[in-house]
Amino acid sequence: MIGTLDAKIPPGPLDQKWRNHRDHSRLVSPNNRRKFEIIIVGSGLAGGSAAATLGELGYRVKCFCYQDSPRRAHSIAAQGGINAAKNYQNDGDSVYRLFYDTIKGGDFRSREANVYRLAEVSSNIIDQCVAQGVPFAREYGGLLANRSFGGAQVSRTFYARGQTGQQLLLGCYQALCRQIAAGTVEMFPQTEMLDLVIVDGHAKGIISRNLVSGKIDNYAADAVVLATGGYGNVFYLSTNARGCNVTATYRAYKKGALFANPCFTQIHPTCIPVSGEHQSKLTLMSESLRNDGRVWVPKRKEDCDKAPYEIPETARDYYLERKYPSYGNLAPRDISSRAAKEVCDEGRGVGPGGRGVYLDLADAIKRLGEQTICERYGNLFEIYEKITGENAYKMPMRIYPAIHYTMGGLWVDYNLMSNLPGLYVIGEANFSDHGANRLGASALMQGLADGYFILPYTLPNYLAGQMSKRPSTDHPEFKKAESDVRAKIDNLLKVNGKRSLDSIHRELGALLWEKCGMLRNKKGLQEALTKIPELRNEFWNNVRVPGDDEDFNQSLERAGRVADFLEFAELMCTDALARDESCGAHFREEHQTSEGEALRDDENFADVFAWEFQGNGEIAEPKLYREPLHFETVHLTQRSYK
Ligand SMILES: Cc1cc2nc3c(=O)[nH]c(=O)nc-3n(C[C@H](O)[C@H](O)[C@H](O)COP(=O)(O)OP(=O)(O)OC[C@H]3O[C@@H](n4cnc5c(N)ncnc54)[C@H](O)[C@@H]3O)c2cc1C
Repeated sequence: MIGTLDAKIPPGPLDQKWRNHRDHSRLVSPNNRRKFEIIIVGSGLAGGSAAATLGELGYRVKCFCYQDSPRRAHSIAAQGGINAAKNYQNDGDSVYRLFYDTIKGGDFRSREANVYRLAEVSSNIIDQCVAQGVPFAREYGGLLANRSFGGAQVSRTFYARGQTGQQLLLGCYQALCRQIAAGTVEMFPQTEMLDLVIVDGHAKGIISRNLVSGKIDNYAADAVVLATGGYGNVFYLSTNARGCNVTATYRAYKKGALFANPCFTQIHPTCIPVSGEHQSKLTLMSESLRNDGRVWVPKRKEDCDKAPYEIPETARDYYLERKYPSYGNLAPRDISSRAAKEVCDEGRGVGPGGRGVYLDLADAIKRLGEQTICERYGNLFEIYEKITGENAYKMPMRIYPAIHYTMGGLWVDYNLMSNLPGLYVIGEANFSDHGANRLGASALMQGLADGYFILPYTLPNYLAGQMSKRPSTDHPEFKKAESDVRAKIDNLLKVNGKRSLDSIHRELGALLWEKCGMLRNKKGLQEALTKIPELRNEFWNNVRVPGDDEDFNQSLERAGRVADFLEFAELMCTDALARDESCGAHFREEHQTSEGEALRDDENFADVFAWEFQGNGEIAEPKLYREPLHFETVHLTQRSYK
């Protein structure tokens, strides 16, 4: 049973909290660090940076991932860039402005103290990555270049063409390899965490399955860090890598960790539209393209079937520039996505099914030349051409919103520790900094801030009180968790039904997209809450999982993840129903301004919603805890980008 939800925000002025907190946190001396074992699940940018840094500090780290190499974490897909308040452009940026933009961008549903710290450490991340050799784009004179992302009126985004995530991950991976070679980090690739082990109320280990041999193993540690990424694939179709899933965080939730704001899911406005029934993945066209691209649809429905170059300037509706003149094409993602849906719903969408809008770089190509545009976005144009067969230098791209990122995640306090002592959650897996809508280029910033600069200070504060408390894997809690994992695997293999995993997952995704996607309402959410248990029932009675558990079996891997999505989807809809207001990406149709914008209810909902699993294995109505958000520095206002 959980008492009050204490975010442990340090006292003092906002800009001194982090320094004071570090100065007063407990330390572990260098000679004692090697006595502590830390499990880190995940080796994307968040987990990889944490493992490398804690290894360098002298702790003994075991790091797990389900890919064959940390190099293949989903972080590699990040295209556009990473924010930092360096103010290299001398365009008025500052730590405060990055902080304010992030709080406002999240529609005032995140903690001031966490977000201020994120803005403060953002500059260190760039220095760290440059020192590692990350090849950020540079100006002719050698200075690091910047571009703009949504929700900001400054250029603070550092980038490496359209491959920023890949380059950052290479830097992080080198640091990780150094520690692997030094023996401080032991890497467990192709190993999936299937349960968290709690001993005397503290997170002290995991149960894992070797994905090649099928072997189930137990690992004990002094603390467990989850860096397992986001759960956008609950919608089946998303821009996430196919492997992204909710299993680690959901199973920790079933062990008592609170899940915060699960319904806050981000829909990205610039993705290649869905092209057919059997598609399994959506592709992002980075938001960076909106620096130079202009978004439009025909003013008249009758023009929608014409080729874009046949539609004269006067017959085009640059709807973002029209509706949001001060931010224009760089209006934030939630707002731009809804605006795209709105024009398509009016019948002015383009392409198959009328579910597309144009992202047009013709003006920029005319102004800057094809070579410059190629240097900035060449690989994105190539991806677009490979998928659609169209040359975006000659024709505008067609784009449409798609599921992209999850702001929700396990609840953590200021130290990034969950309500379970010893369980830390970092990167996209936690709920921390983005409120109800994440600004572009801020996920990489947050993941690396957590891993390189925050966890290495906050984790020792816990470890200092844990000397010699690591249990043995003979502890009954390990045995029980292992037998639960084995039973779940057996049950999945036993069903032996007729339906494929994909067909059930696709059905779940379509249901969520319709009822808990870009727009939500009470009736739809209630319908979803009736249908999800039916679908779950269908899964457990009629799914087909071929193969066995003592071998490489990707169907079995996926089956466990889909089973968790089928439970987690219910939690998302429960959360969306309980939050009877609109904010950021959570748009309840019942709550909108006369101009169709999200209408918050600060009096009743300026809180984090954190859910506790109930039901002793079976699913029961979860229990809601609320963490009130206190705004001492910013004033709550109606978010405006006009
Ligand atoms: C197409 C695309 C483009 C993007 N572009 C940008 C951008 O330009 N800028 C930006 O700021 N953000 C961007 N984002 C968001 C950003 O990439 C992610 O939020 C971020 O990389 C997440 O990093 P992470 O380390 O938290 O998780 P991930 O990179 O997803 O890593 C998760 C890790 O956890 C492991 N794992 C998960 N579950 C288990 C388990 N049960 N057992 C063992 N291991 C497990 C995985 O193997 C992996 O190593 C983009 C996202 C997408 C989809």
